[in-house]
Parts: sequence; C-alpha cells; structure tokens
Amino acid sequence: MNGITIAIDGYSSCGKSTLAKHLASHLGYTYIDSGAMYRAVALYVMENGLVHNGLLDRPKLLQALEGIEIRFEHDPMTDKSATYLNGRNVEEEIRSMEVSQHVTLVSPIPEVRAKLVKLQQAFGRERGVVMDGRDIGTVVFPDAEVKLFMTARPEVRAQRRYHELCEKGLDVEFSTVLENIHQRDLDDTTRAADPLIQAPDAVEIDNSDITAEQQFVRALDVVLEVLARVGQE
Ligand code: C5P
Repeated sequence: MNGITIAIDGYSSCGKSTLAKHLASHLGYTYIDSGAMYRAVALYVMENGLVHNGLLDRPKLLQALEGIEIRFEHDPMTDKSATYLNGRNVEEEIRSMEVSQHVTLVSPIPEVRAKLVKLQQAFGRERGVVMDGRDIGTVVFPDAEVKLFMTARPEVRAQRRYHELCEKGLDVEFSTVLENIHQRDLDDTTRAADPLIQAPDAVEIDNSDITAEQQFVRALDVVLEVLARVGQE
C-alpha cells in the first residue's frame, strides 16, 4: 500500500484547500483541487456564450462536454500545480468572483459531475492523495481512509475570502462575497446530484475560532492515528 486517501469536504471558503495542500506537502502526497475542475467548466460556459441572462444553455453544454479537457500540470512560472482548460492555464481566472457566481450553474448537472468524478477517481488511483471538494468522502472516494468535514461560520469564511480577493488586487464588496457564500452553501447542499453532506464516518472540524496551524495539527492527528492503524507510520 502506497499511502492512503484523504478526503476533505465542506462548505465554500472553509480553508479546505489550505489544509489539503499543507497535509499533502507534509506527507509527500499529491493534492487535487476538485473545485478547480467545476470552476473550469464554469469558465468554459462563460467564455463560450452558454449563459444568457444568468441561465445556462444546458443542451449546448451537454453537446460540448466531451470536448472540455481539464487537467492539472506543474506551472514553471509559479512552481505550483495549475488548472488547464483545453490546454490553457486558467488557474488565475477560475478564482474570480464571476466564476464563483457561475459555478453552481454547472455543478448540479449530473453529466458534468459524472465526467469530473471519473477524472477525479482516475487521479486518485495512485495512492497517497489528498483531495478536497463537496462529495469526495461520499461519492468520489467513499472508501477513503481519512475523511474530514470542514465548517466555519459564514461571516468568518466571507471575511477570509474577501481578504484573499483584496490581496490579489480584485475590486469586490464584502457583501457580494458573503452573499455568494450563502448562495453556494444553499446550492451545494440542496442539489439532487451528489449534494454536500457530511459522511457519517467523517471527522468534523469547525475552524471558525482556530488558526490554520491549529487546524493542521488537529487534522494531522486524525491522519497519523489512521496511518498507525493501517501500519504506515
Ligand atoms: O471548492 P470550490 O469553492 O473551488 O468549489 C467551487 C464549486 O464547485 C462549489 O461551490 C461546488 O458547487 C462545486 N464543487 C462540487 N463538487 C466538488 C467540488 C466543487 O460540486 N467536489
């Protein structure tokens, strides 16, 4: 056995990716950001005129779906992994507020999910993976050895995301960020296909009042306990 699978699910802007990256680099595992893949599909529909007055042209997206190619590749400029959409590095663009506002148009669509889940499972075939998202412990890797479920108060999450966007020099209102978090929480928990729910065997971490470092220590404790149990420490 070469490493375990660590599934991190939770609400939007909960610091899932910060924790996932930290765990992956500490353990020498691969980190996969499943949200980036849904964001890339959202960017595709925005760029290809498949959204009219806030409504998605679903038949056109279904026609185009097979030709949407998403992969992760090392970006020598940043020395980090980047998301590529049909051969183009879209890592920066998919983090915009506009993409956040369009992503739940595409993420409830079963055909989109089926395609991305299959890709995620293929990425995870090599063991020693940390993947974050909404349905990783429930749908993508129901047998993951470690499942974490992250949560935090919406205002705390919005403040962190707002700060992050401002640091990138993006002009955005705090109220817009908070509203988007509420909207995505609602969309992600109420959709019919693979909604965001806590797996019964997931360990919950509420990080509203703890630092990223405290959160890492807590998560690492869970991981080390499992690694000791499966004889990999
Ligand atoms: O994690 P992130 O905020 O980048 O995810 C963007 C959106 O992608 C989520 O709000 C959700 O609608 C969708 N998503 C999903 N399933 C995943 C990961 C993300 O539906 N596994």
